[in-house]
Amino acid sequence: MSDDTLLDRALIRLEEAASHLQIDPDVIEKLKYPRETTKTRLMIRMDDGSRKSFLAWRCRYDDTRGPTKGGIRFHPDASIEEVETLAFWMTFKCAVMNLPYGGGKGAVRVDPHQLSKSEVERLSRAYVQAFARIIGPDRDIPAPDVYTNAMIMGWMADEYGQIVGQVSPAVITGKPIALGGSLGRNDATARGGFYLVRHLARELGLDRAHTVAIQGFGNAGQFYALLSAADGNKIVAVSDSTGAIHRPEGLDVTRLVAGKEAGRKVADMAAELGAKAIDPAALIAVEADLLVPAALEDMIDGDNAGSIKARVVLELANGPVTPDADKILAQRGVTVLPDILANAGGVTVSYFEWVQNRQGYYWDLDEIHQRLLKIVEREGRAIWSIAAERKVSMRSAAYIHALGRLATAIEAHGTQPFFVS
Ligand code: GLU
Repeated sequence: MSDDTLLDRALIRLEEAASHLQIDPDVIEKLKYPRETTKTRLMIRMDDGSRKSFLAWRCRYDDTRGPTKGGIRFHPDASIEEVETLAFWMTFKCAVMNLPYGGGKGAVRVDPHQLSKSEVERLSRAYVQAFARIIGPDRDIPAPDVYTNAMIMGWMADEYGQIVGQVSPAVITGKPIALGGSLGRNDATARGGFYLVRHLARELGLDRAHTVAIQGFGNAGQFYALLSAADGNKIVAVSDSTGAIHRPEGLDVTRLVAGKEAGRKVADMAAELGAKAIDPAALIAVEADLLVPAALEDMIDGDNAGSIKARVVLELANGPVTPDADKILAQRGVTVLPDILANAGGVTVSYFEWVQNRQGYYWDLDEIHQRLLKIVEREGRAIWSIAAERKVSMRSAAYIHALGRLATAIEAHGTQPFFVS
């Protein structure tokens, strides 16, 4: 792969979208750089009494459309470049769904699986202590991301409340229900993608019993498997970070998810599920109608994109397909449903959680699902139409759609009329 950075590659999509619109260069200048990124070291006491420090960041990429919004990732490979790119994607994701937010992201460079639960709690609280002045219900609102969850969001909300001296649930979303979390937030990322595929199924050429391969079996991958299987589709292959399994007749997803919840790895369950263990790198090449990358960035690149057999790719992960791979997939007639639309169900239900926290009135699950469905179908359909009219990919169409909204907001804020006659 070339030595351009993750953010350089992300910006290719911005420039591509801009080439389709009459966009003022001011707008691109504003969106090309993160507004602010804060870096710190979190020092925590380990269970054995020693002290350890971890690098941490929070990026507020752009707040033109509202307070910045985006998750916090705990991962050993986290970097400033990744955080800023993820925050760039959040900016576009919130604009795609027309949520009144800008984009942000945070991370700690740590492998949380090497820490005890109480060490993770101290680390989570240390994160909020370090960034308390940056985050806030009207400023920057974190949420879960890779290897963080509701329990961690609960500790963070609690710590923030102690620092500001009042209960302040709207500072963080993805909290436990008991602390003001929303019903339906746990499966929202997968559900948004599932609603999108169901809504566009006919246009995508996916019939009512299509086959699915899922790369990455964390929150999004597991819930997608459950929702899709319950709707009559066959999950034929799944992978996690250690292995992969394949069963062309379809896997028993309920047993698989129960095993994962009990801390088992997918490959260890191959025999009992009548599946074959395969190389995780081979997962994207299995025979399936739909491929769902639900792990990390850059998993499908110029080297392996040619091996994909699926006709549709649903990006539940952020940034799983590189621009090189996009070209190859387009040539081969594979439709990619892009991350900033496909996985935006998560931040959409985060928005519902924030609204409920602020109004102090909580909706039932059916209301959450109905509202999510409406937004996914509205924005998904709009992007499908842009792609058809302009003869561009769904990714370009999603960027065009979001960039139009961002440009309108940047211009509305602006000073340009005083300088240009
Ligand atoms: N981390 C999720 C994402 O990448 C959710 C962000 C949120 O809910 O604010 O979209």
